[in-house]
Amino acid sequence: MLPTIALVGRPNVGKSTLFNRLTKTRDALVADLPGLTRDRHYGRGVIGSKPYLVVDTGGFEPLVDSGILKEMARQTLLAIDEADVVIFLVDGRNGLAPQDKVIADRLRKSQRPVLLAVNKTEGMQRAIASAEFHELALGDPLSISSAHGEGVRDLVELALEHFPEPEDEEETSAGKTPKVAIVGRPNVGKSTLVNALLGEERVIAFDQPGTTRDSIYLDLERNGKHYTIIDTAGVRKRGKVFEAVEKFSVIKTMQAIEEANVAILVVDAQEGITEQDAHVSAYILESGRALVVAVNKWDGLEEDKREWVKREIDRKLQFLDFAKFHYISALRKKGLGELFTSVDGAYKAAMAKLSTPQLTRVLEDATMQHQPPISKGIRPKLRYAHQGGSNPPIVVIHGNHVDGIKDSYRRYLAGVFRKAFQLTGTPLRVQFNQGA
Ligand code: GDP
Ligand code: GDP
Repeated sequence: MLPTIALVGRPNVGKSTLFNRLTKTRDALVADLPGLTRDRHYGRGVIGSKPYLVVDTGGFEPLVDSGILKEMARQTLLAIDEADVVIFLVDGRNGLAPQDKVIADRLRKSQRPVLLAVNKTEGMQRAIASAEFHELALGDPLSISSAHGEGVRDLVELALEHFPEPEDEEETSAGKTPKVAIVGRPNVGKSTLVNALLGEERVIAFDQPGTTRDSIYLDLERNGKHYTIIDTAGVRKRGKVFEAVEKFSVIKTMQAIEEANVAILVVDAQEGITEQDAHVSAYILESGRALVVAVNKWDGLEEDKREWVKREIDRKLQFLDFAKFHYISALRKKGLGELFTSVDGAYKAAMAKLSTPQLTRVLEDATMQHQPPISKGIRPKLRYAHQGGSNPPIVVIHGNHVDGIKDSYRRYLAGVFRKAFQLTGTPLRVQFNQGA
């Protein structure tokens, strides 16, 4: 499972500045796509070859006990409980605030590992900036500057030092059972879908306690094929015992997506596409997992409502145009066969083996049709392509002056490869490699 870092601290200490620095992705595929709305609080970072999840808990107001601030505090506490490591940010320019002590007490109670980071220390003497924060008794304060990036890398490396490098997907996935995560916001019908796939009795047999952030793994056999279903609705729906933990956990959803080969995103046709649906879609895109969209509760919808839903999807989820959409009813068990045909297709595309000669031939054709545009007086020259990974497939193109290649041209090439190799259902990454 991906390690999760929660950023905690009172307002204005620089949490969102740090969050933005950690989650800023170099992957142009997920930048600036029409309709893509990111969640400003949950994201994915990478340090070296280690990916991790990061949560900006927003303003921490430990002393309020009602209204919207209380709800925020609840979300913050949930994030702290679910995090593997907490980075507690304080402000080195303003100095120690009374509220910092309250937060420190709360963090000690949580028993999560905590790193204390003194922010805004650019141009200050580290020892002086951090001296007064020893009082919080949370270990040695680390001075950083989120705005300037100073000390941030060391901080994250320290936060993740106990987490192993992830295994290589390509080697571990070959010939294995596809892992399929069923994700979506609350009440879209995830449990109903899991039950429809597995049968009621089967699901109950898996009743087990777990923390909120744990998904349930279930074996599914369909038409002689095996799948592992990662059920994010799991714990809270089964039996009466676990009703207490009825909370939607974004971290659980993100972790399930990361663990899966294919995500089934369930949305509710009766409600249309909400911001939360778009956020979950954005995580899927960032993770690079294959995707099938299940537009659920299609039963009993009037024709004009159906047209409305389709327009909503065109407008708000256009960045998922690589995926297949299915209009299903989990309740009536309608459309599940086609849904799984697409799951199989998406898995196959995500794991496709693309040979260097084939890729290079497609590249040659593509550059013949449209040459890379001249940049700063020089036309980039693309020589050959090889596969750099799967799930998602990565095409690495070698050439000269590749720095000058524009995003629009990268997208053009991605479209050509997608078409040539029939990669429906999976994101596809195209990277450039200078020289060689
Ligand atoms: P949050 O409320 O904790 O999310 O804080 P923000 O990230 O919104 O930052 C609050 C203010 O502090 C903004 O004006 C930032 O530009 C500023 N800030 C954040 N990090 C640094 C830093 O490293 N150095 C300085 N000087 N200012 C910073
Ligand atoms: P979850 O929170 O995503 O797991 O959603 P549930 O599976 O608990 O479903 C939420 C509600 O939607 C329940 O009342 C279900 O009976 C209902 N529901 C689920 N699937 C369908 C469907 O295909 N059609 C209709 N009409 N209702 C459904």
